[in-house]
Amino acid sequence: MKRLIYADNAATTQLDRDAFEAMQPFLLNEYGNASQPYSFARSAKKALRESREIIAECIGASPEEIIFTSGGTESDNWAIKGGAFSGPEKGEILTSQIEHHAILRACQDIEHMGYPVTYLSVDSAGIVHAEELSKRITPNTRLVSIMMANNEIGTIQDIPSLARESHLAGAVFHTDAVQALGHIKVDVRELGVDMLSASAHKFNGPKGIGFLYIKSGTPLHSFISGGAQEFGMRAGTENIASIVGMAVALRKNTSSQAETSSYLNSLEARLIDALRSAKLDFIRNGSENHLPGNISLSFQSSDGEALLHRLDLMGICVSTGSACDSKKNTDIPCAASHRS
Ligand code: PLP
Repeated sequence: MKRLIYADNAATTQLDRDAFEAMQPFLLNEYGNASQPYSFARSAKKALRESREIIAECIGASPEEIIFTSGGTESDNWAIKGGAFSGPEKGEILTSQIEHHAILRACQDIEHMGYPVTYLSVDSAGIVHAEELSKRITPNTRLVSIMMANNEIGTIQDIPSLARESHLAGAVFHTDAVQALGHIKVDVRELGVDMLSASAHKFNGPKGIGFLYIKSGTPLHSFISGGAQEFGMRAGTENIASIVGMAVALRKNTSSQAETSSYLNSLEARLIDALRSAKLDFIRNGSENHLPGNISLSFQSSDGEALLHRLDLMGICVSTGSACDSKKNTDIPCAASHRS
């Protein structure tokens, strides 16, 4: 049988076995609705409360600042649209040109509704500079959204400086940490962010679950209307099994982060050395400060798409870009190497 080399953990990761096992009771026997007062729902309610506490502890937040969502896309849309709709005037949104589509498309939606949006440029390593932000921010800027780590080139931004600049101008600061959480240290108080998006399937949790961290007191319009779940901020019956799986996976990844990073850094070095020894003509994209294990390469004389298909025939899954780009990926069997 052909050996599979899955090198697209940016697109999604394998579900952690402990997370899977922790989820099972809530899929089969403990199926009570966490909003109900009777004793059969107690176990679901307890799991919801404990998972929120675990996640809050992993990112240095308070439990009531964690609001469960269906994943990174919903969290990003909520931050942008809920942030825009939270004031009486159509305040400006500032973001960068290299955000994920969940941010860029949400920004386009609100632009169509008459909200001004400014897209900050980045340097050749994909860095958004705080000086650029301070030049472009105005008293009319309501929200700044800059991703913590890029999904394609892995560049990590200086979030504390960007958040500081935003606050000086009176704006709320959001970061899309979907690629960062579980891979590098994320402490919301140290970062100084007001909102942070996360998605479980990027850190060995299940797909279709995530959260939005909302610092207490941050003005934010609720996004999904209906029941009173999630402190009245996000309606819909909670997906207890997935929430439990997300908490187990995050705690595990967070506690083993240092060892995982040094292992990934050693693998990175081996691959780059091998490519150099083979005298291949390539450029490594992104900045020095990048996500462990994220390698974005450009080969001078090769077409990326052709390379992807040749590697796929050898059982190696890499990517030529983001897996969220539906036009590109309709006929790509395996998306990967960098982040989706
Ligand atoms: N933001 C970033 C940076 C991502 O890489 C992704 C993943 O595709 C998302 C948002 C969307 O997350 P999800 O797949 O949970 O909707």
